[in-house]
Amino acid sequence: MVINLHNIPNIYCNFSRFMIFSYHQFLFFKDMLKKFAYTLQDKKIFNQELSSFLPQRIIDIHVHLWKRNHIKSEKLVGEQINQQPFLDQEIVDGFTYEDFNKIIKVLFPGKNYEGVFFGFPYRVGEIDKINLMMKEEILKKEKDSFFIPRPKDDYDFLVKTIKKDGFLGLKPYPDLANDVDYTDQDTVCISDFLTESHLKAANRFNMIIMLHIPKKRRLNDEKNIEEIRNICSTFPNIKLVLAHAGRSYCPSDIKESIKKIKDLKNLYVDTSMVNERRVLELLFENLNIEKIIFGSDLPVAGIKGKNICINNKHYFVTSEKYPWSITGVNIKEEDLTFFIYEEIREILDVVLRLKGHKDIINKIFYKNALNLLNDTKVKLGREQSGRI
Ligand SMILES: [Zn+2]
Repeated sequence: MVINLHNIPNIYCNFSRFMIFSYHQFLFFKDMLKKFAYTLQDKKIFNQELSSFLPQRIIDIHVHLWKRNHIKSEKLVGEQINQQPFLDQEIVDGFTYEDFNKIIKVLFPGKNYEGVFFGFPYRVGEIDKINLMMKEEILKKEKDSFFIPRPKDDYDFLVKTIKKDGFLGLKPYPDLANDVDYTDQDTVCISDFLTESHLKAANRFNMIIMLHIPKKRRLNDEKNIEEIRNICSTFPNIKLVLAHAGRSYCPSDIKESIKKIKDLKNLYVDTSMVNERRVLELLFENLNIEKIIFGSDLPVAGIKGKNICINNKHYFVTSEKYPWSITGVNIKEEDLTFFIYEEIREILDVVLRLKGHKDIINKIFYKNALNLLNDTKVKLGREQSGRI
């Protein structure tokens, strides 16, 4: 059964009826996530393993939004498309706020699931148009959004934009750095795409910076550690969130390196796309609970698969073969569930085992993000949201 995205409200009303008709691929969001398929098995995972453990209110600090016409037609760079599901238009071809709401109703029925939104931070994206969409379609609805800065954006421009539009954070990205060899991520340093002007403006408004670190060795690269330490100590009002816990998908990415940054008072991590149990254990063993924030990386987290670590290297496993994933003839789509469910499943497992009580879960999935967002809102003179 193939059902179009536009039918979602009706489907939703008749959810249980459709369930019995179709074991496999009963929903197909072909307008955005081309491979979205929700099955009885997924429903069972949510009901039995996730729903009763998750708080009623959830904040997801890592959601990308963009429209198809925000992507320039120029050819994508080879190495990137091999690594980045976001750049694979066979998988996802735009994801709007409306799409987010539809998919959330299916994946998290009964929950108040809010996103913190930012655009598609790649060179092939029309960054001006994407930031404008955030202003028009997110901030004007009083939802939370981060601005994607380019190296050319100076202090005055950013201060004006933040004050006028109410962005709560910045989402700089290595791909937007100037004058570097884009096919070799080791040539990019954090300061190439997160400039002093960006940092000064963010510091002035107590903003969150969602940082995707560069370099092949990730947190094991000393240059990254040096820059992270420097940012946190020079700009104490900034809340620096390492996206994907510093791209730590394998324990070896973070096992030693976390010790070099764990003392930084204004350093945080998000959990987006991290589903490796040992990585999560290392985060909980080393960081205060307030420093760990749930993020998903939707829309990519809405496809089916899992991150695995083999010999200290990370791979995406999917049922179909993509340039950026591995698979096997025996891996069927019905054997897999959503990346986002795998992420949450492992967080819950680790937290319940190590920390054992619900208040911790509430902090990771709701309160920690809320506190950071409200701190920036107070500074900007905006109304705080939610309950702390
Ligand atoms: Zn992301």
